[in-house]
Amino acid sequence: MKIKILHLYPDLLNLYGDKGNIECMRKRLVWRGYDAEVKTYTCLDNNFDLSDIDIVFIGGGSDREQKIVCDKLLAHKKEIKNYVENDGVLVAVCGGYQLLGKYYKLHDETIEGLDILDIFTEQGKKRLIGNIVLKSEFVDEEIVGFENHGGRTYIGKHTPLGKVLYGFGNEEKTGYEGVVYKNVIATYLHGPLLPKNPQLCDYILSKAVSRKSRNFTILEPLEDALEKTANEYIVNRFKRN
Ligand code: GLN
Repeated sequence: MKIKILHLYPDLLNLYGDKGNIECMRKRLVWRGYDAEVKTYTCLDNNFDLSDIDIVFIGGGSDREQKIVCDKLLAHKKEIKNYVENDGVLVAVCGGYQLLGKYYKLHDETIEGLDILDIFTEQGKKRLIGNIVLKSEFVDEEIVGFENHGGRTYIGKHTPLGKVLYGFGNEEKTGYEGVVYKNVIATYLHGPLLPKNPQLCDYILSKAVSRKSRNFTILEPLEDALEKTANEYIVNRFKRN
């Protein structure tokens, strides 16, 4: 079976090396004997097509780049919405997370979002920067990462990705981070999110494989001793007891 991963706008939304997350998904599929193909869609392309895509990834970027991407993606809003409502897997990080909402209100302008999630983001006074640790109902191990965002995201009735054990999260106050909606995983945790959290990577991959094959039961476990040790180290370093 071949899983097709689409990296949206790697030329614009690429803060902190989001490509590493793509490579992590690809490698963990290949190690298990699946074929994996990575496609990119950049601002020079005009053949937007999600019909044979299994995983869409959209990364983080500055407000300026985010606005350019948002303007371009608004033309494909319906297609993205259909993909999501048909259980397509979509991983959205930081700026990519914000643009799935209704809007991102900056001090001097408001960027219209794709309205895929019933959320909105408003720019705050200071940036929320630092390490973050979450407890998530979707994976057993704690999720660790790094956040750096000026926006505060209000997720309304959506299910968060996790509860913040250390760090800021969506808007610093409620103690929750990210959103999981159908097979959308949206989060402020960027950089090497998936290499640092192989369980979350496998959660995402299993959603994509099971959508494609009704016979799918479980992903074969991989030898993740080093990754687990690294994850536990970060958890113990930062978690509030
Ligand atoms: N531009 C957004 C913010 O500052 C997202 C930043 C990012 O992707 N790291 O809130």
